[in-house]
Amino acid sequence: MTAHDRATGILTIDLDAIADNWRRLAARAPGAEAAGVVKADGYGLGAAAVARSLRQAGCKTFFVATIDEGIALRPIVGDARILVLGGVLPGTGADFIGHGLIPVLNSLEQIGLWSGFAQAAAKTLPAALHLDTGMNRLGLDRAAIDLVVDDRRRLAGIDTMLVMSHMACADEPEHGKNPEQLAAFQSMSESLALSTPRSLAASSTIFLGPDYHFDLIRPGAALYGLNPVPGQPNPMRPVLRLASRILQVRDVDTPQTVGYGASHRFKSKGRVATVAFGYADGLFRSLGNRGFGVIGGIKVPVVGRISMDLTTFDVTAVPPEHVHAGAMLELIGPDHDCDQLALEAGTIGYEVLTALSRRYLRDYI
Ligand code: PLP
Repeated sequence: MTAHDRATGILTIDLDAIADNWRRLAARAPGAEAAGVVKADGYGLGAAAVARSLRQAGCKTFFVATIDEGIALRPIVGDARILVLGGVLPGTGADFIGHGLIPVLNSLEQIGLWSGFAQAAAKTLPAALHLDTGMNRLGLDRAAIDLVVDDRRRLAGIDTMLVMSHMACADEPEHGKNPEQLAAFQSMSESLALSTPRSLAASSTIFLGPDYHFDLIRPGAALYGLNPVPGQPNPMRPVLRLASRILQVRDVDTPQTVGYGASHRFKSKGRVATVAFGYADGLFRSLGNRGFGVIGGIKVPVVGRISMDLTTFDVTAVPPEHVHAGAMLELIGPDHDCDQLALEAGTIGYEVLTALSRRYLRDYI
């Protein structure tokens, strides 16, 4: 018996599509280098497989969130640059230096730490500087930048190889905060006078136009097929298919109910398929009585609450030859993508991807 026969849920990940999405994004910003963001285990799809595929496509710069993610990535990407978005923590100098990781320095404290490591090692160490242009999350604000400008010794031993910032509202192209952040990034980076490459654009920002591209783009979500331009046709190639096995099919009739809390009551004769995925597999509980799946090309609604390992679908409209124990029901695929599922769950595609359970068999094609 193969792993496929045993698997109750199969996540099919198209690595060619991910590489192709990277090329499409790179082509939108021809003057800029295209990096790849593979934090959170490649948005849940497997950082190693994703990074290998991007590396083959020509990607030379990767972003992760944590030092451990960077350490795990090092043997996969060879001599490519790995930047750690969370920056440097006390006592981690040896980890950064030993694995050739580059911190994104988010505060004066982090600059001080990195400069201290560099001087102790008698080396010049590369780092990116993160400017806070309005997100108020991470990064140097204007006051911190002024302190650096007033006392350049703060950067002693640091080779600032990138100056970057992150946009708050890029998925809303008309939002007034977009040009505000762009202007802030221009003036803050210029006041540093470092003649260093600059980066502002994650996925949605790339689509705000060339003014936002600068020297390096850093897409994550769009690589994985999420729509970087919500409300418009998705320009990215689909990457994912998620399907799980039907464990049982039953005929039902009014006044029967289904699942915990008896939250759905049948109004007439029908059929219910019980499928082997639940909230422990990243199928949000908010999809109860709201989500959809696809079987035999027909969209079928979730009925009742989502259980830990099980979900029930009303399959009355589907010809019986498609609906039997062992058949696969699709939750994410060409007819029902990750963004649609997220909308039904009241969340965003990013959360759907990163919540996908390790219990699914991951099938890379
Ligand atoms: N750059 C930074 C600083 C980020 O925090 C992220 C993701 O959260 C990205 C780039 C990638 O963003 P996206 O997945 O929207 O392309």
